[in-house]
Amino acid sequence: MGRIQSILIANRGEIAVRIARSARDLGIRTIAVYSDADANALHVHAADTAVHIGGAPSVESYLSIEALLDAAQKTGADAIHPGYGFLSENPAFARACDEAGILFIGPSAEAMEAMGLKSVAKKLMDRAGVPTVPGFNGENPTDAELIAAAVEVGYPLLVKASAGGGGRGMRRVDSESDLAEAIRSARRESKAAFGDDTLLLERYIENPRHIEFQILGDTHGNVIHLFERECSIQRRHQKIIEETPSTALDDSLRTQMGEAAVQAAKAIDYVGAGTIEFILAPDGAFHFLEMNTRLQVEHPITECITGIDLVTEQIRIAEGCALSWDAESLTTSGAAVECRIYAEDPEKSFLPANGTLLDWHLPALEGIRIDSGVATGDEISIHYDPMLAKVIATGRDRDEAHRRMQHALEQLSILGVTTNRGFLLQILKHPAYQAGDIDTHFIASHFGDEPAAEKSEEAALNAAIAATLLATEARDPGRILKDIRPGWRNNRFSDPTTTWMNGEEAIPVSRGEWTTRGWAMHSGETPRIARIVAQDGAAVRVEIDGQIHPLRVVVDGENTHVHTAPHSIALSCAPRFPSTESMDLASGCVAPMPGKVLSMAVSEGDSVEQGDPIAILEAMKMEHTVTAPHAGVIQSLLVAPGDQIDGGAPLVILEET
Ligand code: ADP
Repeated sequence: MGRIQSILIANRGEIAVRIARSARDLGIRTIAVYSDADANALHVHAADTAVHIGGAPSVESYLSIEALLDAAQKTGADAIHPGYGFLSENPAFARACDEAGILFIGPSAEAMEAMGLKSVAKKLMDRAGVPTVPGFNGENPTDAELIAAAVEVGYPLLVKASAGGGGRGMRRVDSESDLAEAIRSARRESKAAFGDDTLLLERYIENPRHIEFQILGDTHGNVIHLFERECSIQRRHQKIIEETPSTALDDSLRTQMGEAAVQAAKAIDYVGAGTIEFILAPDGAFHFLEMNTRLQVEHPITECITGIDLVTEQIRIAEGCALSWDAESLTTSGAAVECRIYAEDPEKSFLPANGTLLDWHLPALEGIRIDSGVATGDEISIHYDPMLAKVIATGRDRDEAHRRMQHALEQLSILGVTTNRGFLLQILKHPAYQAGDIDTHFIASHFGDEPAAEKSEEAALNAAIAATLLATEARDPGRILKDIRPGWRNNRFSDPTTTWMNGEEAIPVSRGEWTTRGWAMHSGETPRIARIVAQDGAAVRVEIDGQIHPLRVVVDGENTHVHTAPHSIALSCAPRFPSTESMDLASGCVAPMPGKVLSMAVSEGDSVEQGDPIAILEAMKMEHTVTAPHAGVIQSLLVAPGDQIDGGAPLVILEET
């Protein structure tokens, strides 16, 4: 095959931006695709041209093979890069590209099929001598066969769906009495999600770590590994922090696991970039878990320590080039860590959040790379994955990379949308994390299911003072920003107290008289002297009691959002009268997140107990069941299946009994 001249990027968000960057560096023309929700998205700006492919729901656009191939043909694309997610591991898409004469930048459809089913992949790996988790992997086993085999496997064990992914169709079983029910429900879930209910059993490995190896294979039969990534920090079976090298591996274990990973890829004549995932037991035993036949979200940390651009290599491999390295010539230097920034609320069981991104800002910092799919002003849509961006830090060693990461996350201003930024910082600062003492249960065991955010009264007060100064300046321009104040009256009653609400907490602030260094601001007992020193858009420098606070501030109607590193604070002006709406909602059933109503579990007139399901909502690839906050009778349904609703929207009127 000759050189690729143009690539259609069949994806969106940060990964589409990332792919466009490498393609552009190679002189390749890039074509983005976009749905109704994405015409002005960052990934569209990142490409040389862009084609509209359909409606906002992914099935109408980013998952539509037909629309993507039409776009490729219309623009004369030579090749398609699928990114990750969406159609990246869909053999039918790879085949359709082949048939249309468009180069698919990824492995063969056969390799994807071989690794797509856990039962098939495990058998292949067993045959290739790659260690797999001990268990039972029969030919389409019946319930009775599974129950009989479980005696041998032992407890605790995992029932796994062969077609499973994202933890679906997976059940931990601790004793024989729970097995039959686990098999039934795993089959049901797997059938519904994947149209296949084949199950297998695995011994449950206690306190494991998730270690994966990056693989590259070319069309000349060469396969190398690019070392490991540790991905044990997960919530809901999804990685949120990844690092390399892993603190769990010494050179000997690294060599063994790396060789096993290469063997695994060679067993299926793998071509392209891929990842072999292992589960590592505390005693050092490691087992093949699965292979991802695509680029991974966390690929940048491998790039940081090897100096190899993986997207460039994917493109070169697709062009038929041989790998430029063998195992001996590959070297690594330093350490790297990646944090995934999700629009979600850790305090609400990590439910996805949405809204308008009022500020997205990170100063340029040494050793920090940011792969972002968003920009200030973007609407974070309910239709797609809530990952906004990744922050990647490199250093000479683990401590240096992590110190840079912590500093970067503290400085990163994200206003208007709730994210996990603060929670990531809590993890980074945890002594067990810092000691490298982690496993896949780290978050659950140290933070629980709904980790409370770290709050600072001092930061909230500083934010409220800045908000008060800016609000006064907005009302009466020239008054606050200049030391000489036209029309200034020595009348403190002309500035009534503003009460800011920081969540449930009220912060009253009143501005008193001008002193030589600023305004006397009162909140509680101690007065503070404060003034705005400079303002340039959202960048506001406020001096409070002789110390400069560089802030990011966005005023949005009644709300003032302030980033004062490391805290992001959303202040609202306290309503003079309690709103009747919020009183209703306190006793009602409301949507905890924006999304789509999938189904209603109740009808008018039904009696419900506290905790009974009311409705099932779907947003950002997640299903969520809303339950009754108290016992009562359903007076009326306010929404119906198919409705798109806002976060906080009432779902039913539930009369207390
Ligand atoms: P899925 O494809 O649904 O994501 P995986 O097989 O990749 O399922 O497993 C997902 C996660 O579940 C792993 O990262 C690991 O944390 C846990 N897990 C999987 N298999 C085992 C096992 N045998 N013992 C303990 N934990 C496991």
